[in-house]
Amino acid sequence: MEKNIDRVVEILDRSHNTVVVTGAGISTEAGIPDFRGPEGIYRKLGENRVMKIINIDFFRNNPLEFYKFYRQYFIFPPVEPGKAHQVLAEMEKAGIIKAIVTQNIDNLHQKAGSQKVIPIHGNGARFLCQERNCRSVHDSNYVNTYPEVIPRCSQCGGILKPDVVLFGEHIKNYPDAMDRILGARVLVVIGSSLTVYPLAGFVKEFSTFTQYLIIINKGPTPLDHAAVVKLQEGNTGELLEEIFEKIKKRRKQ
Ligand SMILES: [Zn+2]
Repeated sequence: MEKNIDRVVEILDRSHNTVVVTGAGISTEAGIPDFRGPEGIYRKLGENRVMKIINIDFFRNNPLEFYKFYRQYFIFPPVEPGKAHQVLAEMEKAGIIKAIVTQNIDNLHQKAGSQKVIPIHGNGARFLCQERNCRSVHDSNYVNTYPEVIPRCSQCGGILKPDVVLFGEHIKNYPDAMDRILGARVLVVIGSSLTVYPLAGFVKEFSTFTQYLIIINKGPTPLDHAAVVKLQEGNTGELLEEIFEKIKKRRKQ
């Protein structure tokens, strides 16, 4: 374990283009439930039901039923970024990482101060007016305190849609995410089991051309064999902090 951490420190310290990919695992430490985990709503309610409702056609045809469900299961009380989010933001400031591609919609990287974040499934803290000529952005506080189930635009009264990728929609920032990942020298995957496509495909493609794939995830992933280091024990925030401290120490020498 100690050796593995030192190897990660060495690789990150030498790299000038490190990109981080994050999934649900990084946010569970901050208190956000993992939809796909054992206690997640996919298991509790059945994946088919979730996929049917959290779907772009269902939203368009049935916004009332959509929002009853969305408000119950997808809007959380305010959560603060965890240590892992904070350390990643500091690592960006220190020039150790270039960008974060995230599957999470919880806005926690942005809240922690990370500047270059590519949220491929959108941002659940934003709500967009669906009127073509308006497109006003509203925050989750506006929606949470809105007096009706279906939140409407403060400018034009149009229906607001969560700025997240629903089933039946394409991921956001596809070319940007792909370029960042395939162009990286070192890729660090944190808290993702790498089973959701197309992101898992980008990481797989990266790993066929480049040897510096690092995976920090509690469970197994299909690309563990391709990783130069796999860390699966301990708290992710503390692990990242230890790595960051060791890099700073090396740079002082
Ligand atoms: Zn509007």
